[in-house]
Amino acid sequence: MSYHVDENGFYGQFGGAFIPEMLYPNVEELRQNYLKISAEPAFKKEFMQLLVDYVGRPTPLYFAKRLSAEYQTKIYLKREDLCHTGAHKVNNTIGQILLAKRLGKTRIIAETGAGQHGVATATVCALMGLECIVYMGAIDIERQAPNVARMKMLGAEVRPATSGSKTLKDATNEAIRDWINNPENTYYIIGSVVGPHPYPDMVARFQAVISEEIKQQLEEKENRQNPDYVIACVGGGSNAAGAFYHFIDEKNVNLIAVEAAGKGIDSGHSAATSTLGKIGVIHGSKTLLMQSADGQITEPYSISAGLDYPGVGPMHAHLFETKRAEFISITDDEAMHWGRKLSELEGIIPAIETAHAFAVLDHKKFKPDDVIVINLSGRGDKDLNTYIDYFNLRF
Ligand SMILES: *Cc1c(COP(=O)(O)O)cnc(C)c1O
Repeated sequence: MSYHVDENGFYGQFGGAFIPEMLYPNVEELRQNYLKISAEPAFKKEFMQLLVDYVGRPTPLYFAKRLSAEYQTKIYLKREDLCHTGAHKVNNTIGQILLAKRLGKTRIIAETGAGQHGVATATVCALMGLECIVYMGAIDIERQAPNVARMKMLGAEVRPATSGSKTLKDATNEAIRDWINNPENTYYIIGSVVGPHPYPDMVARFQAVISEEIKQQLEEKENRQNPDYVIACVGGGSNAAGAFYHFIDEKNVNLIAVEAAGKGIDSGHSAATSTLGKIGVIHGSKTLLMQSADGQITEPYSISAGLDYPGVGPMHAHLFETKRAEFISITDDEAMHWGRKLSELEGIIPAIETAHAFAVLDHKKFKPDDVIVINLSGRGDKDLNTYIDYFNLRF
């Protein structure tokens, strides 16, 4: 059984490139070039140099002593929260901007929901001096004002998507429309392991640096390269893809993917995509997605803006179907509790997305000598207002 993408862009039955004919030249150009360019020594060198000097890699693998003592097992945290811009997303935008430059593109577009990918994209556009246009749902622009301000500070133009529900999927539609109209000079940076092939594979490869580092760091700390468990939250699935990547074929490493149950899986307000999802096509990829009986995409819900995506990347749909990874859904309340608990136990305020991953500790029993790695995908600064309201922390 292969868990990697095949030459047609499929993970088992999931993936592919289900795109309108007008988009074909753009996607095909990328498909023909992404592996070739990213394997060039000069590309690899520039990518690694920027990850080191600009992003701050390698990120530490931190042994969480107090957390481990409480749960009677060995818990390590992979500190992606310490990346420049506060999360793992920049690993991918650095990779794609270098690719865009080598393809001769001068104009970058992206879509964003919570604004995190928009910020990571605006950051690398500033770094490279390229024009940046970020599509964002009009409702999300209101909800995520600090990230909109960050993008503007970085010199990006934020364009509101005013159709449909005025959220992420509408912003994605606008970005695709833009790309169709500007096929020559424009590159579309997608922010997770979603979209038509080759995006899911390309993004997974750029994020794979996470598990590459975990192997080396565990070797130093535990005299072994493989942990017993890797745990990561899943929105589209890019931080999990990066944390799982080099362990996927190591059968003794248990992979746990954590989705947002929102107000409860059966509440009608959730983003537990794999559990609730049915096979369908979203953003050019065949995968599991939340949809109504007649195939309309259901609006997802989670208290964490980064997890409320109605689909999941095709790699994860395949990991779910083959049971290679275990999928667990965590509610808003559990995640919020863990946001505070990790802050008080370890002095680390996690993003609410990330806090979902920690709640697995209350759902599974681990042995004293198990080595567990939790991917700490991002820091909680962006979520302070949500924490303040939830815990009533105002004076
Ligand atoms: C965006 C985001 C996620 C979810 O996206 P993935 O592609 O599933 O990783 C998770 N954590 C943080 C901190 C994020 O910003």
